[in-house]
Amino acid sequence: MKIGIPKEIKNNESRVGMTPAGVFELTKNKHTVYIETNAGFGSGFFDQDYKDAGAVILNTPSEVYAAANMIVKVKEPIQAEYNLIKPHHVVFTYFHFASSSELTNAMIKTGAVCIAYETVESEDGSLPLLTPMSEVAGRMAIQQGAKYLEKPIKGRGVLLGGVPGVPPGRVLVLGAGVVGIQAAKMAAGLGAHVTIMDINMKQLRYVNDIMPNHVVTEFSSEYNIRKRITNHDLIVGGVLIKGAKAPKLITRDMLKDMRPGTVIVDVAVDQGGCVETSKPTTHEHPTFIIDDVVHYCVANMPGAVPYTSTLALTNVTLPYVMKLANLGWEKACEKDQTLAKGLNIVNGKIVYKEIEDAFNVVL
Ligand code: NAD
Repeated sequence: MKIGIPKEIKNNESRVGMTPAGVFELTKNKHTVYIETNAGFGSGFFDQDYKDAGAVILNTPSEVYAAANMIVKVKEPIQAEYNLIKPHHVVFTYFHFASSSELTNAMIKTGAVCIAYETVESEDGSLPLLTPMSEVAGRMAIQQGAKYLEKPIKGRGVLLGGVPGVPPGRVLVLGAGVVGIQAAKMAAGLGAHVTIMDINMKQLRYVNDIMPNHVVTEFSSEYNIRKRITNHDLIVGGVLIKGAKAPKLITRDMLKDMRPGTVIVDVAVDQGGCVETSKPTTHEHPTFIIDDVVHYCVANMPGAVPYTSTLALTNVTLPYVMKLANLGWEKACEKDQTLAKGLNIVNGKIVYKEIEDAFNVVL
């Protein structure tokens, strides 16, 4: 198959759809990979790396789209890319259709096959192509939180690990899923005292089994959260209720119970946030302060570490890209039900129920 990797053109997106290692595997299997010049630059991969791995470098996105049958990307296509997508294309990327009727209509019009990373779903309900980004965001939450706890950026002036003779900082993690576990692990590694909360006892048992003794599990309830926020320095929001807005576990009135300079990293902000006062921020302006509490609410945290994020993403997408390339999309989806869940739009029709429901009125 002929596979095209265009450069991402969405604002501030430095990731790329394929690493040189991925290109190497595909070309080894007799596929042809066309990649736009400088597509990997933002992630630290250069044209020569891709050439060495067997890719053909093309100068413009138009050339890449024209040469390929399958397009592998990171972010959803934006307006400038709509006309480049043709009925013979399979487009494999994050789409998040439910949040944009414009994009959905545009992709319907192309007549292409759109397979969305975010709806590829395993039998146990997990989302294998979203997991690595949650892992990145969970780990980053502590890195960012530790930074914003510093006094010059209005934090409490607490060093999370403490020093001999001074107790470590306290981290409260809401949600013991992918984000929460990675955050707890990083905080524990720094030597912080960690409390991690969830309503899922199975998750809490698991965390209790695998974490060191300075990571304490506690059932998530308003009562317990109100108690803990008064003496924790960094609060990480990592809750998710699938298909719904995040529950507001920290309400506006609770901020006054926190000590000045407490930092909240609300990773769940992309689902509305689990803190009432959260609103999405950007890497350019990541924080804001309400009632002396620092809020960090960047909605695309992995974008700040494109090298790691690109590697983490392509580790999980490559096996599916390989299947699609080897078998064609119809056979690949017939054989692999996990991949089949990724089918969102096929030849001008929405084939994913939740997206159809979301646009019942609009389309
Ligand atoms: P997950 O499903 O693995 O974990 C969510 C956890 O929240 C589950 O264990 C669930 O039981 C728990 N939960 C639900 N209600 C709760 C409550 N009332 N109290 C405590 N815990 C509760 O999800 P995840 O992959 O860890 O993702 C978490 C959030 O982070 C999602 O909204 C995801 O979209 C978001 N995210 C954001 C970024 C970013 O850049 N900001 C990046 C990746 C993921």
